Amino acid sequence: MLIGVDFGGTQVKAGIVDGGDVVRSVVADTLPGAAVSEVLTTLTSVVLQLSAKPDAVGFAIPGEVDSEGRCWRLTNVPGFEGVHIGRELAERLNCPIAVENDATAAALGERLYGHGRQYPSFLMITLGTGIGGGLVMGHSLYPGTHGFAGEVGHMNVTRSLDAPLCACGQRGCIEAYVGTKGLLRRFRELGGRADEVLPIALAARSGQEAGLRVFEEMGEALGKGLANIQNLLDLNAIVFSGGISASFDLLEPHVRRALREYAFAPPLAEVPLLVSELGERAGVIGAAHLTEL
Ligand SMILES: [Zn+2]
Repeated sequence: MLIGVDFGGTQVKAGIVDGGDVVRSVVADTLPGAAVSEVLTTLTSVVLQLSAKPDAVGFAIPGEVDSEGRCWRLTNVPGFEGVHIGRELAERLNCPIAVENDATAAALGERLYGHGRQYPSFLMITLGTGIGGGLVMGHSLYPGTHGFAGEVGHMNVTRSLDAPLCACGQRGCIEAYVGTKGLLRRFRELGGRADEVLPIALAARSGQEAGLRVFEEMGEALGKGLANIQNLLDLNAIVFSGGISASFDLLEPHVRRALREYAFAPPLAEVPLLVSELGERAGVIGAAHLTEL
């Protein structure tokens, strides 16, 4: 029995996974400002609700982890810097634990049961508060030497001093344009009002200038970054997941235009742009299958 846990900024989702299906699942909230020990207790309790004696559990976490299971830092959950999350969870659950970055875990799910069956080399981009990335090369997951491969959110797309500030402290990162906070800020600057992305999409669909501009600028920043990635890797596909993928039709033409403008050669710019086949389940499914690697 495989168990996967997707540890998000506001929610923890756990599931018993059979191949590409989640057969039973449990959800718990993560409280903002919770101590590390409380978060670890939540992560443990969702697993124990699914199985009193798990054989092995895979965890997808919202940040990077080294090959030993030690967190570098979790941007949206304070206090985890240097925490040996793999060892802590193994002690609490008394079974082998696999830990990986959430976008990388989602890419593994997609590689096994989604578009990865058809496309051997792809980048999975998760669009949300943060912009994550997971890389699959020649059917194999590529987390990188220290777990940072595919971190597209912090790729720099402008040197301008006016560029918006990113949560990482730099200016001009893709995440500062394309992450939820960046989109809301830009929408406000253009005279719109929204607390989440959906009203921006609705504004764009009804032809309102502010909404259309936000998606245009988002697509431009994303497409520019993807053109650089394509120049380096010449991938078979780019797969999008996360909340914004519901508005992907609004984004796609602008991403494609920027790819055509910035990619080195036409075949690189015409890479298929796809929405994840597994959707919201990619994290849990991928996390569960980490235990088989
Ligand atoms: Zn950044």
